[in-house]
Amino acid sequence: MSASAPETAAEHGAIIAGRADAVAARLALALPLVFLPAHAAVALTASNPIGAATLLCETLAAFIAALACGWRAQGSGNRERLGWLVIAVAMLCWSAGVGWQLLGALTPAGASGTGAISMLLFVLYGVPLVFLLASPNGDPWPARMVDAALALVLGLLFGAFIFSFVQLSGVSDAAGELTLSLMFDIQNIFIALFALIRYRASTNEQEQRFFGALSAFAGAYMLGAGYYNHFVEEQAGALVSLIVGAPFILLAVLALRRPGRTRALPKRGMFARVVHTGSPLILPVSMLILSAALVPSRPALAIAGCVAATLGYGLRAMLVQLHGMGERDRLAQLSQIDALTGLPNRRQFDEALRRELMRARRSGQGLALLMIDIDHFKLLNDTLGHQAGDERLRDVAGILQSCAARATDVIARYGGEEFAAILPGASPAEAMAVAEAMRAAVEERALASPGPGERVTVSIGAARLTEIEADTGQRLMERADAALYDSKRAGRNRVTAAWPVGEAARSVSA
Ligand code: GH3
Ligand code: MG
Ligand code: MG
Repeated sequence: MSASAPETAAEHGAIIAGRADAVAARLALALPLVFLPAHAAVALTASNPIGAATLLCETLAAFIAALACGWRAQGSGNRERLGWLVIAVAMLCWSAGVGWQLLGALTPAGASGTGAISMLLFVLYGVPLVFLLASPNGDPWPARMVDAALALVLGLLFGAFIFSFVQLSGVSDAAGELTLSLMFDIQNIFIALFALIRYRASTNEQEQRFFGALSAFAGAYMLGAGYYNHFVEEQAGALVSLIVGAPFILLAVLALRRPGRTRALPKRGMFARVVHTGSPLILPVSMLILSAALVPSRPALAIAGCVAATLGYGLRAMLVQLHGMGERDRLAQLSQIDALTGLPNRRQFDEALRRELMRARRSGQGLALLMIDIDHFKLLNDTLGHQAGDERLRDVAGILQSCAARATDVIARYGGEEFAAILPGASPAEAMAVAEAMRAAVEERALASPGPGERVTVSIGAARLTEIEADTGQRLMERADAALYDSKRAGRNRVTAAWPVGEAARSVSA
């Protein structure tokens, strides 16, 4: 069977994406098989774990992870793209940190400040990851920008705290080194733990895969870095370098895997909701803790940290609330509008009728109600198709609306191919004039229809509120409906008025 040529640009794009995925999947298999043995071979021939050769392998491993994440970002939907890009940035920071150490190892005397710059880059590595974990995917982008700014300030505080006991030329003493290791342990544990929480709280499969990859990497890195920092002596074999590099290759493999279909996971439970709403708290809380730790050494910075945490979180909460209010208003409006015609829907009509009836009773002025129904619409639908039916509904809606003379008139889609008009304060003659104008306007537009006359027409029933105190909306509707039925029975494309007892029913025919 031969493959047929792609028909559209979209199909062509999908085929290319499919091929790229297949190549990446193969790469995901080959990468650990090639890189890890090469890394091991290099480490076996190296003299110590922080020699240039092993550092080069670690730099490369993180760089490959950055490339793989960047590649996955390209092929991802909008929601996951940012996440993969942000991980790629973190990987680049880490790669640069070790790269800087490598530069130091290659410079005969060791570049001055090498340790400090690397440390700064390792601190920066945590910033994008903490942002990812703290900032929920679906939040409005202004709030996420605040999260990004807070993550940056958190990195700054973390850096300032570390440099409060580390000299620019590197770590000062054994106690300082231990505290430094502990700080990085806390950073790593924190990232691994929250990645796992976000994984457990994922609401769709894409998100779950993303946080699954991140927590697998963060967990492996936490263990590897912890072991390396606490249990490895300077003279230990260089093979331990492998446990530092391997998590990056794991991340690259997970990023290169073929993506699955986006499938919603079982309904978001309480846990997921708490994680979604609570994770932004990670940033200000961590900032406050670090600020407290900075009080003895950098009191001004500590105060600035507290202020930034409080104001930042307040601003974020305000932005989220603002967005929520906008959404609520939009939904409330949508729930009152008929999606097809843009007219008020039945719900809004019912409310308007209740409101206008009360107003009519108060003011003593009349109110007229028109029920308008398209003739032989089923035939039109069956012959020309549902789509053509929808178009006619939109056209008729527009025509009816253009016939409503006053701003207080309400024209609504009552349901199906039926419309209703409330004409507050309209006298019998005015109501009949509007109804007749509607009927004539629809007929004159000559919209094609398979019915008699081969054009779309409407039948209308009109009722008026007169026994002001006693009359209800329902009775008014019933009278308008009965009049509409009379119009249909009398041959359609006509207006019938059902004025209450005492006034004769009147029919205006086409
Ligand atoms: P009559 O002249 O007596 O009013 O006959 P009719 O065929 O217009 O009345 P009937 O109530 O039998 O048919 C109404 C049709 O309107 C049936 C339904 O398929 C169609 N309809 C209801 N809502 C929609 C819609 O949103 N879009 C489309 N295209 N058709 C709709
Ligand atoms: Mg009809
Ligand atoms: Mg009908």
